[in-house]
Amino acid sequence: MTIPDEFIQELKARTDIADVVGSYVTLKRSGRSMMGLCPFHNEKSPSFSVSRENGFFYCFGCGAGGDVITFIRKIENLDYVEAIKLLAGRAGMTVPENGRDDGMGKLKARICEANREAARFYHKQLYSPQGRQALEYLRGRGLTEKTIIHFGLGYSPSERFELVNYLKGKGFSQEELFAANLANQSKRGYAFDRFSDRVMFPIIDLRGNVIAFGGRIMSDIKPKYLNTSDTPVFNKSRNLFAMQFAKNKANGQLILAEGYMDVIALHQAGFENAVATLGTALTNEQAMLIKRYCDEIVICYDADEAGQKATQRAIDILRPTGLNIRVLTVPNGKDPDEFIRSHGNQGSARFRMLLDKSGNDIEYRLAKLRTGYNLNISAQKVEFLTKAASLIAGIENPVEQDVYITSLSGELDVRKDAFSRLVEKDSGKRNRQMKKEQQKKIYGDLSAVNDRLNTEKHLNLRAANAEEALLSLMILNPDTALRLKDSLEPEVFMTRFDRNIYEVLRKRLMEGQEISMSDISGSFSTDEMSRIARMLASHPRENDPDAAAEEYISVLREEAQRLTPEQAASADNDTIMEQLRKLKDKKR
Ligand SMILES: [Zn+2]
Repeated sequence: MTIPDEFIQELKARTDIADVVGSYVTLKRSGRSMMGLCPFHNEKSPSFSVSRENGFFYCFGCGAGGDVITFIRKIENLDYVEAIKLLAGRAGMTVPENGRDDGMGKLKARICEANREAARFYHKQLYSPQGRQALEYLRGRGLTEKTIIHFGLGYSPSERFELVNYLKGKGFSQEELFAANLANQSKRGYAFDRFSDRVMFPIIDLRGNVIAFGGRIMSDIKPKYLNTSDTPVFNKSRNLFAMQFAKNKANGQLILAEGYMDVIALHQAGFENAVATLGTALTNEQAMLIKRYCDEIVICYDADEAGQKATQRAIDILRPTGLNIRVLTVPNGKDPDEFIRSHGNQGSARFRMLLDKSGNDIEYRLAKLRTGYNLNISAQKVEFLTKAASLIAGIENPVEQDVYITSLSGELDVRKDAFSRLVEKDSGKRNRQMKKEQQKKIYGDLSAVNDRLNTEKHLNLRAANAEEALLSLMILNPDTALRLKDSLEPEVFMTRFDRNIYEVLRKRLMEGQEISMSDISGSFSTDEMSRIARMLASHPRENDPDAAAEEYISVLREEAQRLTPEQAASADNDTIMEQLRKLKDKKR
């Protein structure tokens, strides 16, 4: 779908990037720009900047950047047209539907519709004779009618064509059902239901779309849980079960449980801030999503060994977000669902008590570590303290560090200063390692050898830097750009990546269109927009843009005269002589 340029102009005029970004990130004024904690990577001190004046954001930590449309594309995981629609809705505008809808946007909409119909179908089946066992299963797990309806739970019939036939009757094509992962394809090519004889849990995104399903078997057949595979509307590592409810009830805190039934039981017991991953271990993306809605996360996994391992992993992933992490351990090896049920009327109150006394992640880890040692044996005590020191060295807050040093040394009867030195030694090692990694990264950035977008940059850094400065100058100074478009031929750009950007800008200028960040957003991927934002962020406005442009262009022309090593190797003698003559002429 092509969106008319006038519409983008109007949207641009009505949309303030700082307002939009500000609804996801707390921004503080800092000089000419605004700064905040980056929503795209884990950080504790702000390196994420927004320039209201120039209409772009850029993170100096992870390199994410772009205009306001790119921001929405990235944070909401939308394509260009969807992001425009969201921003238009925000600005009280309606996207004109005259253009043809792009294939992907249309398919996504169809998948969501098919999923919604499927959810209705499954829910209805729950109350049919064949769904009886499933309904009894849910009631047996203590769920009320209200809860079953609230979560839209359902049943997928065992006969493997019922949903397929139902959805075909509603006008969905076989291909759409495959794309939604509601149907599988048989060897002979026909479609049959993906889910059969399972209790169905619809997975709903933050905007209320049914994007996937989890299905639980009631017998011993494996797998116990079957989930929708990733589809154009569903990415299991980016979503969380029940987040659409929990985000409004978070109040600063979310509970991370292991399974759908735990979450549902918790919600029913009044803990509507519970969420779960979708059949996989917690991912970085999910950790960032969690961080958007709370300051504190309570991990509440099963008490079995697998659950405890998953807890350790989740702590490792959540720690860098700066979230306050607590770990709730359900006593007697029960999972939260069993615990609440086993206490009947008191379930909710008893769980509240567990929640209130749940310790933070360091306490949890120290306690876990401790179980592996016999502290009455000196050698084991030393080994435990050495490992504990390493754990405590990882804490950034010095007061928090001191609390653990004091309590452990007191408890195990060792001198505090001795234990403290052990912690310091480990911190030193950690810092040195971190510095080394940082230096390696800075070197990699400067030499551009690892540049995946502009792969030719490292071959001619001087030219590529001049190109970036020139492009940034053009975007910030459209008048200069207008003058340059006629005299500056694209071939002057030595790297293909930068030349392509120039060609896009030039074409727009030739057609009388604008070239601000939001104007060009539709022509580039989010990664490319990030790179353009980096150019803008690293080149401040010039006082005399025309003169600066001439300077950059002369650098480019100069570099074009030089032979690259590859050219030198392949060039015949005459060309080399020619080049040398040119160089000599210049030096005179
Ligand atoms: Zn970042």
